Amino acid sequence: MALRVQKYGGTSVANIERINNVADRVQKAYDQGDKVVVVLSAMSGVTDSLISLAKQASKTPDKRELDVLLATGEQTTAALLAMILKSRGYKAKSFLGFQAGIQTDKTSGKARIQEIDGKSIRQSLEKGYIAVVAGFQGADENGDITTLGRGGSDTSAVAIASSLKADVCEIFTDVDGVYTTDPRICSNARKINRISYEEMLEMAILGAKVLQIRSVEFAKKYNVPVHVRSSFNEEEGTMVVNESADMESAVVSGITCDMNEARITLRKVPDQPGVSAKIFMPLAEAEIGVDMIIQNTRSGGETDLTFTVTKDDFERAKEISQKVGKEVGATEILTAEEDIAKVSVIGLGMKSHSGVAATMFQALASENINIRLISTSEIRISCIILAKYAELAVRTLHSAFGLDQKK
Ligand code: ADP
Ligand code: ASP
Ligand code: MG
Repeated sequence: MALRVQKYGGTSVANIERINNVADRVQKAYDQGDKVVVVLSAMSGVTDSLISLAKQASKTPDKRELDVLLATGEQTTAALLAMILKSRGYKAKSFLGFQAGIQTDKTSGKARIQEIDGKSIRQSLEKGYIAVVAGFQGADENGDITTLGRGGSDTSAVAIASSLKADVCEIFTDVDGVYTTDPRICSNARKINRISYEEMLEMAILGAKVLQIRSVEFAKKYNVPVHVRSSFNEEEGTMVVNESADMESAVVSGITCDMNEARITLRKVPDQPGVSAKIFMPLAEAEIGVDMIIQNTRSGGETDLTFTVTKDDFERAKEISQKVGKEVGATEILTAEEDIAKVSVIGLGMKSHSGVAATMFQALASENINIRLISTSEIRISCIILAKYAELAVRTLHSAFGLDQKK
């Protein structure tokens, strides 16, 4: 008998028929004698619609109330699945985040889980219930509802699996595992059977949205075995585990693409000590994360400073940069560009191989794709290019690094 946490994403619970399919899977595990905790997302599109409603209600929706609103998407699916299971004669009970004991910090919209008191879920499981938990939500120390950021149900599931010491956390989604790149962009993408936490984390950070970044951080920290699989078929899926023999030998194991970044450039910035600090400090104070930074020295004691932020933070970052640009005496304040993409190649094997960057640049050049910014780490190389070339770049790199499926 195993303790399984099963998470189903938005497309898997998009309508009553699909929730019935989810109930079939849950029922099968339960009938086998397993204890089952189900974590659900909202129906696909619902969170977006709720955000759009909030924007119609107010130009700048109150953050506390926005969380109250967004949490209703997952409340709906949890209640519906529990109803279906009960109507089939099973003992099932829905739990909202706070009822499942999920305590978070107070950062509305991007809250971090601090602690999970799994007592009520554990008691229900012991009494033979199937626990159906609303994903993506928790409550802070004042009892206010919080949400965990887009894609946050993955993190709810992994965190619950960790607190209950579950045997496995199954992430059921609309693809049958983690691929060498997004299979919707590249039809030659290959399924990866086993991937290390480290590589999965890098892929998530760099734009593979199949798992939310924090869910992988959690899994890595607490050693939770994560199994990514499809809710639409019986394929094997991908195991995300501590380390993986197949992956370590691969120089490049995956390609990602992130369309969620925007670029800001401050021109003719005085080339003096302390200027960068003056520019980046107010951004940090506004909790705006800066990703890539590049500084080009011009003649005459000036530099051009370019950096990227997420699209969500773009307008605020632009305002702050305009203000600090003036303060530090940049003579041409700013050009900003939103239509960029970041393509990255990732692989643990890069640690011990040279020439990966050259192959990447050569492949992009062969398609006449201009590289705007480059950044590297031990296990990845990222290039900023124009968004319109993103899909072409992904397919070109996938093939250049020998990742295409054998036909
Ligand atoms: P869910 O609603 O189930 O949480 P998501 O849309 O968040 O599903 O994540 C699944 C999607 O992630 C897939 O439909 C796929 O397009 C995308 N994706 C991006 N990169 C990858 C990858 N490397 N492997 C698998 N899927 C990926
Ligand atoms: N419903 C939320 C979202 O769309 C959380 C999730 O699906 O994981 O981002
Ligand atoms: Mg998701």
